[in-house]
Amino acid sequence: MSELDFSKCPECECKHFYRQKDFNRAIGCLVILVGAILVPFTYGLSLALVAAIDWYLYKKISDVVVCYKCRKEFKKVDIPEHITPFDHHIAELYEELD
Ligand SMILES: [Zn+2]
Repeated sequence: MSELDFSKCPECECKHFYRQKDFNRAIGCLVILVGAILVPFTYGLSLALVAAIDWYLYKKISDVVVCYKCRKEFKKVDIPEHITPFDHHIAELYEELD
């Protein structure tokens, strides 16, 4: 794939993008759940451990850029500074267009 500057989406020509963690929340929740189950056996230490694992995964996982309009995800890209986390107000603009 060629260099993307995110001035517009190659799929739908939308000019708005947001960044988010390429992180499967289900896995994060599962890790926390296991930690919670193990609490009686570890005197609560397992919770601290899974919190650390969760934090580590979160830091390690890179951001992806997502198009507001067609929801296409762009992975392994250099994300320009002007792309901000999900903004509900911008998303509403596109929802009203549908
Ligand atoms: Zn798009």
